[in-house]
Formats: sequence, C-alpha cells, structure tokens
Amino acid sequence: MDNNKKRDKKTPPFKNPMFIFLAVSIIATIILNSLMSFMFAPQKEEITYDKFLELVEQDKVEEVIIEHDRFTIYGKPEKTKPENENIFGIGLVSEEETQKIWYTGYLNDERLFEMLDKKGITYSTPVELNSPIVNFIVTWILPLAFMYVIITIFMRLMSKKMGGGGGIMGIGQSNAKMYNIENKTGVTFKDVAGQEEAKESLNEIVDFLHNPGKYTAIGAKQPKGALLVGPPGTGKTLLAKAVAGEANVPFFSLSGSEFVEMFVGVGASRVRDLFKQANAKAPCIIFIDEVDAIGKSRDNQMATNDEREQTLNQLLSEMDGFDTSKGLVVLAATNRPEILDKALLRPGRFDRRIIVEKPDLKGREDILKVHIKNVKTSPDIDLHAMALATSGAVGADLANMVNEAALRAVRMGRKEVLQEDLMDSVEVIIAGKEKKDRILSEEEKRIVAFHEVGHALATALQKNTQPVQKITIVPRTMGALGYTMQMPDKEEKYLNNKNELLDQITVFLAGRAAEEIVFDTQTTGASNDIERATEMARQMVTMYGMSDRFGLVGLESIEHKYLDGRAVSHCSEETRTAIDNEIVSIMKERYAIAKQLLNDNRDALDRISEFLIEKETITGDEFMEIFNEVNAPETEPEPEADKAEEAE
Ligand code: ADP
Ligand code: MG
Ligand code: ZN
Repeated sequence: MDNNKKRDKKTPPFKNPMFIFLAVSIIATIILNSLMSFMFAPQKEEITYDKFLELVEQDKVEEVIIEHDRFTIYGKPEKTKPENENIFGIGLVSEEETQKIWYTGYLNDERLFEMLDKKGITYSTPVELNSPIVNFIVTWILPLAFMYVIITIFMRLMSKKMGGGGGIMGIGQSNAKMYNIENKTGVTFKDVAGQEEAKESLNEIVDFLHNPGKYTAIGAKQPKGALLVGPPGTGKTLLAKAVAGEANVPFFSLSGSEFVEMFVGVGASRVRDLFKQANAKAPCIIFIDEVDAIGKSRDNQMATNDEREQTLNQLLSEMDGFDTSKGLVVLAATNRPEILDKALLRPGRFDRRIIVEKPDLKGREDILKVHIKNVKTSPDIDLHAMALATSGAVGADLANMVNEAALRAVRMGRKEVLQEDLMDSVEVIIAGKEKKDRILSEEEKRIVAFHEVGHALATALQKNTQPVQKITIVPRTMGALGYTMQMPDKEEKYLNNKNELLDQITVFLAGRAAEEIVFDTQTTGASNDIERATEMARQMVTMYGMSDRFGLVGLESIEHKYLDGRAVSHCSEETRTAIDNEIVSIMKERYAIAKQLLNDNRDALDRISEFLIEKETITGDEFMEIFNEVNAPETEPEPEADKAEEAE
C-alpha cells in the first residue's frame, strides 16, 4: 500500500493504469446501476405535493410508502389500452390493468396522515431487508470489484496483443519494469576477450567506483559518462556489464528504444525515474543501450518528434544534474555515433568515447578461447586456424560459431567438439548450410567446377593474393553453387596495396573467365563475383586515390561506418560518369589478365577441375599438389626442392 502511494506521487495519477481502470470501472458501474433501476423499477412520475393531496382527495391512491426523503404513491389500478401504455410490456405489468406510480418529496405534514386515515389508504415505511451497508456493498462495491477485474484482464490481454509493453499498458509502468536492475552482473573483464584499449579506458571508471575518495581528494572529477561505439556484436553490452561486475556495483540497463513511446512525456518521466532510482542505489552504473534511438540529432529532420526530443532533453538535464562523487556512471552504446546529438557528446555528458572495434586475429582467437571453455572439445583443436578463417567476424559471430560447432557435434553423435565441427560451422555462417538435395545437372556441375577452379588458379598464380583453403561444388543454402575459400597464411593484413587489390579483382573475375575459356559461355553464376569486383574497383577510384585519372581526390565517403557502410557520392554528374568509365576500364583490363592467366595454365585448370568434379570438395593442399605437378617440370628444372617451397 505504502509503496503504491509513493509510486503514485511520481507518476501523475491519470497515467497510472490502476487509476484508469478504477475510473472506468466506476463509470461502468454507475451506468450499469442506473440501467438496472431503469429496466427493473416500474416507471415513476414526479408530482408536486399538492398534486399528491389532490390525488388523495380524488380517491386515486391505493397505498403510500413513506421513505425518509420521499413519498411513493401507488395509484389504484386502472384499465387501459395496452398500445399506448408501458413500452416495456414484456409481461412485467398486466396488459389490461396498470398501476400508476408517483413520487414526491417528503414533507412533515400532520394533516396528511389524517387524510390518509380518512380515505382508508394504507401507508407504511419500507422495511429494509438488508442493512444499508449490505445494500451498498451489493449494489456498488461488488459490481465495482467485478468490473475492475474484468477490465484489468481485458486490458492486459489487449496490450499483450498490441505487442508487449507498448500500447496503453505501457503508460506509467516506467517504474515497474522498464529497466533491468542486476545487482551482480556476474561478468568481468575476463569474459571479454581482446578489446584491451576499451578495457583500459573503462578500468579508470572501475577504479573510481571502488575508491571515489582518491579522485575527489585531489579535485579530479570523474567523467560522468562514456560512450561505447562500435559495430553490432563486438561486445559493447558485455563490456558495460563487465564494468559493473568488476566494480561490484548494481547495473541499471535499458535500451534507448524503450524510452520512446507513443505518448509524449512518458520517455522523459522514465528517464527521471531511472536516475532517481539509480541515485538511491549509487554507486552504480546506468547503461543505455542503443542510445541513438533517443540521442538522434535534432536538426535537419523533416518531422519533429516531440516525444524523443523531450526524452533527450530530460536525459541531458539529468546528466548535468547528478553528482559524480556519489559514484554514478552512465554508460551508453551505439553503432551510429555520427547521428548523435552534439549536446550529448559535449564535456560533462558522454565526454568519453570508447571505440570497440571488430577483433583482429589475436582478438578473435582470444574470443574463441573464452567461448570454447563452455564446450567439451577434443584436445587437438586449432583455434588459431579458426581465427584465421574468420576475418571480419565479431564476437557475437564467434560465439555463435562455437555453439553451432557444438550442435553439429551432437548431431554427429559425438561427445566432444572436433576441429572439423569448428571449421564447418565457420563455413555455415559464411556461406550457408550445404544443400544436399539440390541436384545439379552434369553440365552445370562441370561449369561450377571450372568456375571455382578458375578463382583458385588465379589466386595461386598471383603472388599478391591469399592462398586457397578449400574448394567445393556442393551447393549452399545461401545461394552459392560452389565456392573457393581463401585464407591468409599467418597474419591478417591491415593495409592492402594497389597491386593486391587489382589481383583480388582478377581473382573475382577468373570464375567467369574460366567459363568463357572452357565452355565459351557466360552464366549467371558470376553475378556475385562481378558485384564484389566492381565494388572494389569503385573504392580504389573514389576512396583510395588509386586511379591515375582522379588521383587523390576523395569522391565518396562511407556513411554509418559501423553498420552497412554504404558509400555516398560527393561529386557532379559528369565526374560520376567519368568514374564509371574508369571502373569499366579497370574491370576490362583485369578480365583480360584473368583470361590470360587461365589460358596459360589450361592444363592445370582441366586437371584440377576434373578432380574437383569427382571429389566435390578438395582442400588447398590437394589443389596445390596437382597445381605443382602440372607446373613444376616446365617452369623449374629442379622440381623436387621447389615443389615443397611452393606448396607451403
Ligand atoms: P553489442 O552490444 O556490441 O552488439 P554484445 O555485447 O551484445 O554486442 O555481444 C554479444 C555476444 O557476443 C556476447 O554476449 C558475447 O557472448 C559475445 N562477445 C562479443 N564480444 C565479445 C568479446 N570481446 N569477448 C567475448 N565474447 C564476446
Ligand atoms: Mg548491445
Ligand atoms: Zn565465382
């Protein structure tokens, strides 16, 4: 009860669902009650007191009931025509005989009783069967309670249908469950692999929460907030939890999108409430996930969004208002930092920006180590190889891959995860599941095989490309009919030079080149290759300053660099046409080179392709073996020694 009262104070009563239901129930009960009395009570007519006396005089009265505030007068039954009487004539009142009922206000009149006695009219006061309290309960309290229950159930069902916490039910529930409070997150920095720089920055916050005095003594103010920025799945949420876990303080978390409701003012009251609660529990951490949902820049928007603006303003003022010396720290995460309102980023608010990057090779290996701990594995698994094969994957992907591998092991009826499970799950996530039921015709299978070997040969023949890991012509669910997996040797590259990019384009185009050389045909299978090659050529021209024609002019830039990374163009129509021409010439040139390479190595192309058609999947080693067999005797006079070197 007490709690409720406190709560009501915080939320305006009209926004409290309890209150709304109660009001609706009361109204419904009143309507019901008056409807009941209207339906079941005979119709009464109000008359004046002298009209009453007149009726008594005229002998038209049979009985008078004296209540504390009125006389109810029952007339003598009259014979009437049924048509114009009694609209509710459903047998309640006799059709031929009707009795009129009047009432008039109570008047303390001694004469009346004399008159009534004289006329022989009976009079009485009603004997109440129930005490007034019971009466009140039956007519008001019970229906009210009933209504309340019905309406509450109904509204809950409705709001569930309308999708979770939203809708009418969402109002004012801010204080109930809009955010999570975890007293112990159970996550520490040990659970977050890699991300050393981010951890280092956050460590200061942890230290502050442990020992605020150390900082305040010297007059240093702790940053109020830190913004975790990075692509999805890199562990931002995890890091925030780890900070709370390390500092051993409660963790208030909620998602930015949960703030913004369809009712103006709700989000703001949620923010207010959140900070109030957190203040009471300080030291603690408030974590606002996806802060871009509220923190979106306010300018250049077509339609203004009052609700979001109010919420943002409230957040800004709360962040200004709280006292860091109590040990309250606000963390937020976003993958679209560029759209955040400048006001959020100024000193005194989220003045620290912690970049959470996609993990590098070592980072990936470490992340795999963290997650592999939870599954039983054979002792000979090679996480380094797996990390090499997963360039570009983020922590969430890697966690997922480990789990997929464990699931595969169970499917295979094994008790532990093998390396092949791990590598297979990498492929499943990159290329989709094997689609065994898709039967390719013999002809198609040949084309796919030559296409893939074309890619692989171009890779092997050019020094600036990554070696082949695996070639397969088993179709995959994500649309690939076959694919060639490339994998860096030992290290990941952070820089690519122009020749590497050009060679990579050649590799992309070599699939089509093989089709043309061998079958003299062009298939749709090359579409993805062409797309990626074109993209690469475009970036070389517009962003990397690698074309002679445009030199170092930046013609495009990347938007949303932590999300899909779409490029936006900055140049005129004419320049764009010129860019397209430049790209066309690069592609033509590289395609010619691809064809040249394959023509020169037609032998290898044929032999490896036939082998692939037979086996359906071959490893990089098998590939290199045939490749060297074909090439070595011609190119090198002393084959034995060099064969081994090349095979590496
Ligand atoms: P984000 O908030 O950046 O989108 P999350 O923190 O929700 O990503 O990460 C999702 C999951 O991915 C985590 O629960 C964790 O299992 C895994 N993960 C991500 N990054 C890491 C990491 N650096 N170390 C260990 N696990 C990670
Ligand atoms: Mg997250
Ligand atoms: Zn291809």
